[in-house]
Amino acid sequence: MQTPLGKPPGKKDPKFIFVTGGVASGLGKGITTASLGRLFRSRGLRVALQKLDPYVNVDPGTMNPFEHGEVFVLDDGAETDLDLGHYERFTGENLHRGSNVTTGAVYSAVIQKERRGDYLGKTVQVIPHITDEIKERIRNHAVAENADVVIVEVGGTVGDIESLPFLEAIRQLRNEVGRDRCAFVHVSLMPFIGPSGELKTKPTQHSVKELRSIGLQPDAIVCRSDRVIGRHLKEKVSLLCDVPISGVVSAPDSDSIYRVPLVLHDEGLDRELAHHLRIDADPDLSEWRDLVNRIDAASEPVRIAIVGKYVNLRDAYLSVIEALKHGGFHHGAHIEIEWISSDDLEGGDMREVFEGIHGIVVPGGFGWRGVEGKLDAIRHARENGVPYLGLCLGLQCAVIEFARNVCGLDAANSSEFDPATPHPVIDLLPEQKNVTDLGGSMRLGAQPCHVAPGTKAADVYGEPVVYERHRHRYEVNPAYHEALSGKGLVFSGMSPDGRLVEIIELEDHPFFMAGQFHPELRSRPTRPHPLFRDFIGAALKLARSGAVAEPPLVVRR
Ligand code: GLN
Repeated sequence: MQTPLGKPPGKKDPKFIFVTGGVASGLGKGITTASLGRLFRSRGLRVALQKLDPYVNVDPGTMNPFEHGEVFVLDDGAETDLDLGHYERFTGENLHRGSNVTTGAVYSAVIQKERRGDYLGKTVQVIPHITDEIKERIRNHAVAENADVVIVEVGGTVGDIESLPFLEAIRQLRNEVGRDRCAFVHVSLMPFIGPSGELKTKPTQHSVKELRSIGLQPDAIVCRSDRVIGRHLKEKVSLLCDVPISGVVSAPDSDSIYRVPLVLHDEGLDRELAHHLRIDADPDLSEWRDLVNRIDAASEPVRIAIVGKYVNLRDAYLSVIEALKHGGFHHGAHIEIEWISSDDLEGGDMREVFEGIHGIVVPGGFGWRGVEGKLDAIRHARENGVPYLGLCLGLQCAVIEFARNVCGLDAANSSEFDPATPHPVIDLLPEQKNVTDLGGSMRLGAQPCHVAPGTKAADVYGEPVVYERHRHRYEVNPAYHEALSGKGLVFSGMSPDGRLVEIIELEDHPFFMAGQFHPELRSRPTRPHPLFRDFIGAALKLARSGAVAEPPLVVRR
């Protein structure tokens, strides 16, 4: 088999694109990297994406979403940075563990080698030992992914102490693989100063100066701004930062992140990099253009409530928001998200709170806080025919609510929230009971789920066996399976051994489904996850009917 670059697999000389960020965080470096992934993949190349994260945690799994946003779980169970979600959504390819490298993982590997005696006799230092480990991980990733092009995003902002070893490593790598096989993209901020009515290039100049002081010269600068950067300013950046004018790219704020690949392409970013790296295939962006046309046409409003602990913290539920949008793209619906704080919900008037809402989502989460409010929201959805989608904790809460209010199991709970509950309908898996290290020890990654024929889940998925990504310690307690299903809770997806409940649903309800996994992690803009697709379909139906549905017939206590 030959690849587009003419080399047999495994024997490639991959090209590298490094993406750094300047001036401020949150500029969209991850979206830029993901967009480049799409643009090079659209040239028929095998693209591997990788994120280097400067924090000392081995992975983000032990970090609070307040600190670091959601944890994106891969098929192989790796707990990774949320930017990897963008990479998967933009390229449509599943990533693997090697795609996320942290300072913590690098140091812990080097220290392990030191203890083993691998460096015997040597003083172990940041240069060369830490930088060697970083370079090895970049190279290994290229080989493991059989990549033609490796796009590496360096987390953090140039000038941070923490990112220095990563920047030093990529500087060394450029020397080792050759300058014509490496390209550097710097994403920087061009602020608009209101009183003088001007866009300022100075922060970008300083940031590039900082980059050059450590030996890195960008080949392209992506100028992030709230508006378009004109020719005059591009010339200025080009002159002062020593970048060809064709490499200065205007990237104004966009109404949809999915438009960014087309914006960058129209600005010539991928052409510039391809030229530098001597890649001559042309991109085929027709699929992506179709997507953006569908996004532009998605205008029918649907209001979805996300009932969670981190209200308005978009990064904590990033993939959930994106998956809802994907469902909207499919149906031509524009998703309006209503954030409902589960803390404030408890005991409130649910009809008032959910007035005009067409669907309710309870996303994943940990700890007892806000759970009672979530149960109230779920009861409202169940009793009033409001479409409901539960994600991981959202399944566990739906089971607790059903146990209490339909099965009459008073004070039923998860042993996570109330260790003394008389009815632990959600409980630790036996294999979780002796876990001592909390990092990387949950039930993680893609697990098979058998979908029961004749159920809604079977309709939704259209497949008998599906693989969904997990990240949890607790499960529906097998001791209560009978009590719950006896009262009408349908277990429509089970682990292959029939021990673990993976999907629940209710009959006689327009859409009441939940998964013990995170379907949002597998949703793509071009291929919405079936659960999100059909949840939005049901919500849209309710929105069109102009009213909240009649209460369905449910078994009540
Ligand atoms: N806290 C629950 C558990 O550990 C749910 C986790 C989640 O929603 N990701 O099982």
